[in-house]
Amino acid sequence: MKSQYRVVVIGGGVVGASVLYHLARYGWTDVCLIERSVLTAGSSWHAAGGFHALNADPNIASLQGYTIDLLSQVEAESGQSIGMHMTGGMHLAGTADRWEWLKSNYRIFQSIGIDDVHLITPEEAGKLSPVLNTDGLLGGMWADREGYVDTTGTVHAYAIAAKKRGAEVIEHNRVLELNQTADGWEVVTEKGTIRAEHVVNAAGLWAKQVGRMAGIELPVAPLAHHYLVTEPIPEIAALDAELPMVVDLEGFTYSRQDQQGMLVGIYELTPKHWMMDGAPWDYGIELLQEDPDRIENELAHVFHRFPVLETAGVKTWVHGAFTFSPDGNPLVGPVRGLPGYWCACAVMAGFLQGGGVGKSLAEWMIHGETETDVFGMDVARYGSYAENKAYIRQTTGQFYSRRFVMTYPNEQLPAGRPLKMAPAHDAMTAAGAFWGESWGLEVPIYFAPAGFEETPTLKRSNAFDLVAEEVRATRQAVGLLDISGFSRFKLTGPNAEVWLDRMMACKLPGPGRARLAPMLSASGRLKGDLTVFNWGRGEWWIMGSYYLRAWHMRWFHEHIEPGVHLTDISDTVVGFSLSGPMSRKVLDRLTDGPIAKLPFMGCGNFDVGLIRAKVGRLSVTGELGYEINCTAGEHIALRRALLEAGADLGIREIGYNALGSLRLEKSFGIWSREFTQDRTPGQTGMDRWIAWDKGEFIGRKAATAERDGNGPAQVAQVIATLEIDAAGADASGYEPVWKDGKRVGFVTSGGFGHWTRKSLALAMIDRDCTAPGTALSVHVVGAERPARVIAASPFDPAGKAMRA
Ligand SMILES: Cc1cc2nc3c(=O)[nH]c(=O)nc-3n(C[C@H](O)[C@H](O)[C@H](O)COP(=O)(O)OP(=O)(O)OC[C@H]3O[C@@H](n4cnc5c(N)ncnc54)[C@H](O)[C@@H]3O)c2cc1C
Repeated sequence: MKSQYRVVVIGGGVVGASVLYHLARYGWTDVCLIERSVLTAGSSWHAAGGFHALNADPNIASLQGYTIDLLSQVEAESGQSIGMHMTGGMHLAGTADRWEWLKSNYRIFQSIGIDDVHLITPEEAGKLSPVLNTDGLLGGMWADREGYVDTTGTVHAYAIAAKKRGAEVIEHNRVLELNQTADGWEVVTEKGTIRAEHVVNAAGLWAKQVGRMAGIELPVAPLAHHYLVTEPIPEIAALDAELPMVVDLEGFTYSRQDQQGMLVGIYELTPKHWMMDGAPWDYGIELLQEDPDRIENELAHVFHRFPVLETAGVKTWVHGAFTFSPDGNPLVGPVRGLPGYWCACAVMAGFLQGGGVGKSLAEWMIHGETETDVFGMDVARYGSYAENKAYIRQTTGQFYSRRFVMTYPNEQLPAGRPLKMAPAHDAMTAAGAFWGESWGLEVPIYFAPAGFEETPTLKRSNAFDLVAEEVRATRQAVGLLDISGFSRFKLTGPNAEVWLDRMMACKLPGPGRARLAPMLSASGRLKGDLTVFNWGRGEWWIMGSYYLRAWHMRWFHEHIEPGVHLTDISDTVVGFSLSGPMSRKVLDRLTDGPIAKLPFMGCGNFDVGLIRAKVGRLSVTGELGYEINCTAGEHIALRRALLEAGADLGIREIGYNALGSLRLEKSFGIWSREFTQDRTPGQTGMDRWIAWDKGEFIGRKAATAERDGNGPAQVAQVIATLEIDAAGADASGYEPVWKDGKRVGFVTSGGFGHWTRKSLALAMIDRDCTAPGTALSVHVVGAERPARVIAASPFDPAGKAMRA
């Protein structure tokens, strides 16, 4: 062990070993891994080692695909056997909805380029797994690249391959303390103190404690999990070929062959947490006592699906623990305010995801960003609200018990809710608000009459007409929307303007004006689709997506300079927006200021009723509109005043589902859909906001190269607006788009335009297919529907309403 390394990876499980391997592979060889006990001594040694194709987040699904491809390369490179059994595998559906869900997921796989997947009939499933009872099955999805590995062999293979490239592995050495220094970290271990530029928390079951060593509370918790291995089963012993992996979407179970018997794992409905504060330091290579009573119902189901299990003896019970984040995806990346501290934890399926996590983290450390959009596993997708233990318990428990359960796109899950509520929440509930959730905050999705219940579905739901009515009210009169769920950052200080000008690619607005502001990374990819407000007298606001608060703050923090004061004021400033032709009239009744003269994209301080509000004239609906910001204490009064003033003008409260329809009719993109951190301004149309004639800004060089046709992102795909001949269901995202049988792109967002009466989608498609009128097709909930390119902004293309 040396006294200094560029990187110290803490934890010798599959994740730490993969991080070490990727760092060495990408050229950082002055790196070491420190393991408290021996390699694999956490969750890794007793995992079932299975890998499956499905993940609800397509970006994570592609990183899983990367891991599967990588495993054999690592085996070859290391010379260490990983015991790979590439048996193929299937997900089975026994209800119409799950079957439909599998069919639409199959299409999503096509969109992300995973082509070794196809749908199978129950008869085919029965042939592929001769011990499967196909009664009641409607179909399945088959993936060639599913199987399992020997877990210990795999961890050693990553470590040996890393060592061959110059990395070091130090076992039997616990990290005791982490101290931040001027240029990195002092890592205090049982065998002495090491200095490192970077440390990686890959401590698995101990990630919580290794977070606390740096003063952070990670939203992670271990849960106990069972699988069992049977004695040999004669019917299986007699087979010529190995059984495939099977995930039963009805039964919360996964299974595979193990030697001449079967391995069955269970995600039970009643999850059990284990050591919420992390495993004890002296926890060895040991198992928890099995608890068959707890999984009785799930076992009954799997016995029905595999009758040979009914008489099989259990050879081994494995009851162990592994870690989960609230949404089940890993926590990866740098931590704000702790330069050189990196997370690679909460990896719930390390043998499936470990490769992608190692790759992404190594890219991030070495190049400053990842190749693909990894927001779905970025540690900065959570804020401090997620540090709460009850929140962690509820959300991780919910994820665990729904691991193989399908979630409908319009389904609201209860864990960790309600947590944050805008002050007018109760009044809006009384008015019929139904709630969604964004970053712990309850946000209205639509308003419904008493007694209404929305049916979970993949298609248009029974809330369709309610949303249509909200859209109509907005286009014809005025819609009132709670905009507490926007993020707001306040910027002041002598250097504020210069700093902001460097951060944003747009021209900064003058006093009393607002402007749409693309923010770029140094490589010219998108980092934000923000709005900048210049309130005058040196006060600026940056507004964006609420759920990106910590993510944006980390970026701002990484670039902050002396003389810049930046505060996240989203918890203290809330508001409402008005949009629609009557919105000016409503506001005019409440203010004696010159609100009527406020130009499009103007902003200023106005009296609104009794409230001193900050008002901006802009809207995401494409209508004349205003965003009215007030303090949290004034939220209820603002709502009351606006509703009273608009009562005879047709005012109606609306939710974010209506906003989604209204913005699609304007072809307005949003973050995570059209705008992501692996896309460029040229691909997304964001380039129209770039001020090419201003001075230096982050990403200028790369964006200019793209504009001039010689950038790396001169890719052939751009965003276009589509109209789909839909029937009872609309596109929602990631559906493949076809032209004459060839895949030419995928949907980024879709829905019904209630005013234009069109099923609409924004899609990233080949540039040569974007001419209006081009005939295409799109798979919507698994069924191919005719579609065509239409001109952007089917509602009011000239933007007259907004500027009225
Ligand atoms: C019963 C069961 C079945 C599973 N089945 C599968 C499956 O089929 N497929 C799949 O992909 N996953 C499966 N998993 C999950 C899988 O085990 C985990 O995702 C994976 O092991 C996590 O790896 P890790 O490296 O993050 O953590 P761990 O394996 O827990 O490794 C963390 C390491 O860090 C070390 N460490 C901690 N603190 C310190 C410190 N302060 N100093 C030095 N070293 C430290 C620990 O000793 C440990 O070795 C299963 C898990 C269980 C329990």
